[in-house]
Amino acid sequence: MADLFMIGGATDAMLERLGAEFTIHRAKDMDDPQAWLNENGAMIEYVSTNGHDGVKPSFMDAMPNLKVISCYGVGYDAIDTHAAKAKGVVVTHTPNVLNAEVATTAVMLMMACYRELLRDDAYVRSGRWEVEGNAPLTRSVDGQTVGILGLGRIGQAIADKLAPFDTTIVYHSRSPKDVEYKYYGNLTDMARDVDVLICITPGGPATNKIVNREVMDALGPQGTLINVSRGTVVDEEAMILALQEGRLGWAGLDVFEAEPKVPEALRKLDNVVLLPHVGSATVETRVAMGALTVDNLLQHLQEGTVVSPVPECADM
Ligand code: NDP
Repeated sequence: MADLFMIGGATDAMLERLGAEFTIHRAKDMDDPQAWLNENGAMIEYVSTNGHDGVKPSFMDAMPNLKVISCYGVGYDAIDTHAAKAKGVVVTHTPNVLNAEVATTAVMLMMACYRELLRDDAYVRSGRWEVEGNAPLTRSVDGQTVGILGLGRIGQAIADKLAPFDTTIVYHSRSPKDVEYKYYGNLTDMARDVDVLICITPGGPATNKIVNREVMDALGPQGTLINVSRGTVVDEEAMILALQEGRLGWAGLDVFEAEPKVPEALRKLDNVVLLPHVGSATVETRVAMGALTVDNLLQHLQEGTVVSPVPECADM
């Protein structure tokens, strides 16, 4: 049996399928995974990991016979794909199977901000309704102009899910796509024209803090920022200041710069809705992601090919 090094968690279904074909070595069961790899890394041909943990360069160096890194997740900014490719290692991920779920999370955050879901829930629970009467009015989601930063697979699913709300969709990415929505080559210009900015680009150096103070000021006091991409995409410190000073209206956030650490100042604000990075975290979607993660490993073991390589490894 081939040897698989497993970083991070796995569902029971994944473990069952993988266990039938691989000898699994789990980092979480080791006192010192690096020391274990330094001694045994030469036997490892396959790695499974996730978008958060990735594969440390020192781990990769300790596995000279590695063939495939299978990432449980579509975002793979925690894996150095160029270093992997240079060593002949194919990196795979789980695109498409999570589009609908992450889009739901984005739309849910937008609704929660607009309709003050958390404030009104607290209003009922605290008994204030009985004492103070009707809660203050909220804002309608219908008819808003929504700017999507990163109109890729998930960005398109968000646009589709918002259609029944009569939204006008516009977008920014590095290049225009073959779609009917208006394209902005400049993110600040788009932010100035929209009610809501939804971030759904990859993380990594190219998108680091591209939603900066200028972009948030352009979005403005009536504007809503939704981030379901990576915490690094938004300048978190600038966002907290903008929310505190009323230069930015609301924020709905699934991801944070140093998650699971979330700044206290952000947790204190009542114009934010905060989620613990659960964009794709439903039973159904995680089953589909787990199946694709395993399919990539098994197909390589049996046929030498993979199902869903990351774009950088598509020609390998
Ligand atoms: P895609 O590759 O299909 O789409 C990414 C989009 O971002 C493309 O439209 C691309 O267009 C654009 N983009 C890339 N780089 C830049 C840049 N520097 N500036 C502006 N736009 C850019 O990816 P998916 O839709 O499948 O996934 C997107 C991301 O969502 C993932 O990488 C991950 O980080 C995040 N995600 C978060 C989850 C969560 O739990 N919150 C779950 C799943 C994914 P172009 O190349 O023309 O710029």
